[in-house]
Amino acid sequence: MAIHRMQVGNVEIVSVPDGAASLPAWPVNSASNPVDWAVYHEAYPENFHGPDHHWRIHNGCYLVRSAGRTTLVDLGVGVGPYPRYAGMHGSLLDSLAEAGVTPEDIDDVFLTHSHPDHVGWAVDEEAGRPRFPRARYILHQKDWDEFTGRDPVPPFVNRFVRPLQAAGVLDLLEGESTLSPHLTAIETPGHTPGHMSLLVASAGEKAVITGDALTSPISISRPDIPFASDFDMDQAIETRHALLDRIEAERMRVVVGHLAEPGFGEVVRLEGGRWFRAL
Ligand SMILES: [Zn+2]
Ligand SMILES: [Zn+2]
Repeated sequence: MAIHRMQVGNVEIVSVPDGAASLPAWPVNSASNPVDWAVYHEAYPENFHGPDHHWRIHNGCYLVRSAGRTTLVDLGVGVGPYPRYAGMHGSLLDSLAEAGVTPEDIDDVFLTHSHPDHVGWAVDEEAGRPRFPRARYILHQKDWDEFTGRDPVPPFVNRFVRPLQAAGVLDLLEGESTLSPHLTAIETPGHTPGHMSLLVASAGEKAVITGDALTSPISISRPDIPFASDFDMDQAIETRHALLDRIEAERMRVVVGHLAEPGFGEVVRLEGGRWFRAL
């Protein structure tokens, strides 16, 4: 597997994929929102396949190297098997090894949100401790409140999120937060209440690691289509519009983990619409 890297000014983003799985069709969830599937199949063959438009979901995680710190963004499905991804076993640790990085090298773990396909490697369950022994873990307060406040608390939260707090390594953020001279956590709520994206800015260049604020080429070209996995569908639509407007206005590149690896790209205008173009 080749290691893919993208340079944003003085910041390096490295793709460390956790793997991919084939799911039923991307949940567009409505006959009132017809999708021209043929166009998507042709433009994004690594995301859509078959007569039933199965969704090939890639599960990207990223290393961000900036100002001497190494930040790991999102933590995949973990050891697995992860039932919602057809029993997938995550490959993040192999990807990190291939990139020459050990768990001890990670300074910060940035969790875009608290869904099970983004926090699965947070804890080494066999050893009974956080997987990345030197790292601070960063999550939004509202995701903590939402997922730990459920009755019952979802099992994955008890396995992969609560132990971080018990170990004293979890930092809960609220509002837009500057993490380092080049990294800013921005609030992109709707997919979950405390969903965040990571803005990278250095030497006049910008990129945004979107998390699940964007999940598919369809959510870029048709942000108005409700996505069944969003916690608050209306807020998620609002967030997608605002984020895409900002990406365009500030000429940001985008990093979208659920697109085909490495998920590096830009949003371009074509015949009046917006499209994801891979870089
Ligand atoms: Zn999610
Ligand atoms: Zn996801």
